[in-house]
Amino acid sequence: MIPRQAVTVLGATGSIGVSTLDVLARHRDRYSVFALTAHRQWQSLAEQCLEHRPRYAVMGDPGEAQALREVLSLKGSSTEVLQGEEALRYVAGHDETDIVMAAIVGAAGLLPALAAVEGGKKVLLANKEALVMAGGLFTRAVRDHGATLLPIDSEHNAIFQCLQNERADCQAGELAQRGVRRIMLTASGGPFRTRPLSELSQVTPEEACAHPNWSMGQKISVDSATMMNKGLEFIEACWLFNARPEQVEVVVHPQSVIHSLVEYTDGSVLAQMGNPDMRTPIAHALAWPERIESGVASLDLIATARLDFCEPDYQRFPCLSLARQAAETGGTAPALLNAANEIAVAAFLARRIRFDQIALVIERVLERLPVNEPDALDVVQNADLEARTLAQTLIDAL
Ligand code: NDP
Repeated sequence: MIPRQAVTVLGATGSIGVSTLDVLARHRDRYSVFALTAHRQWQSLAEQCLEHRPRYAVMGDPGEAQALREVLSLKGSSTEVLQGEEALRYVAGHDETDIVMAAIVGAAGLLPALAAVEGGKKVLLANKEALVMAGGLFTRAVRDHGATLLPIDSEHNAIFQCLQNERADCQAGELAQRGVRRIMLTASGGPFRTRPLSELSQVTPEEACAHPNWSMGQKISVDSATMMNKGLEFIEACWLFNARPEQVEVVVHPQSVIHSLVEYTDGSVLAQMGNPDMRTPIAHALAWPERIESGVASLDLIATARLDFCEPDYQRFPCLSLARQAAETGGTAPALLNAANEIAVAAFLARRIRFDQIALVIERVLERLPVNEPDALDVVQNADLEARTLAQTLIDAL
């Protein structure tokens, strides 16, 4: 019998975390749950702990840990409750964890994901912001510590599958040497793909969070509506697949059935398809290089009937242009972009700025702050902090 692999889920209470636990629950013979983490939602984490019985539960926000401790103790749970950032890193890099799902949203996910990498784990990376902020440092750490990095973003997971990688770290050399002409990253175009441009300044957080094909957390839903999500994915793809910006193309595909494509020099184009359900890439990465049941229904091509494609509209989606520019600039530009975006999206969700002002804030931050060489983590963290502070000041002045 194959020993069970122990899994830590960082961001267990989020959309990806919940889907991960759904897949894990279908395979209790293959996987045990070692640790689950959340930020503030202690009630949801308590329910997950009672069902999956992890050794550790971590509340990122120490203020909520005592409530979790009390409820678990009342229910006779043996799960030990830890708290704070240090504890997130501790469970991610723990000797007894084999697999880490990195599904904390935003820059807060960087250090715990890095701890998993430094522990040489099999790291399932949903937290694209970690690669956007610190792609060079992150991928170097993957190599130095012998970690296995597998992409969870459906597009990057699709590309990984189409590249037929023999190596798991997605860095099996130059794309051209592997016969690859280009990577085509598909994008649904989000809820505002066809909305009249004059109405975009009026859209509400509720409308922005109502994605036509995917059910996701709030931040990534807004990122999808501005297409910053595709911009972040563009940068992520460059790091994951050792691609230059000109080797990655964004194609709008409203049905979200083709999750991305790879074109080879002989003209062959490989696509990965499936229903838009994150349990497919999660199951793929969990079991890689094997395949396991994910709970996702079979793709009904007859019902799908047609697949459409068009170019992205850069006037409608200025965030996509800003991200492309940041990828081309390199250095700390993507970290500045990511931090400004996080602050602007939070302000939009809090109804402090309009939808169209998200791009404006990011653009001004990129214009005003210097770009440095991100050769150490503190350089990246300083850029992140500076961009957050400036973005907040700009928002206060709007
Ligand atoms: P959610 O907002 O649904 O969940 C985020 C998770 O992170 C929650 O468990 C939350 O805890 C936790 N969290 C939030 N802030 C912190 C913090 N400061 N410290 C520690 N933990 C924190 O996000 P998603 O699941 O949608 O996305 C997670 C990541 O996966 C993102 O990087 C996203 O871009 C990426 N991704 C998501 C996809 C999706 O379909 N949802 C698809 C592809 C990528 P709490 O619940 O307590 O707040």
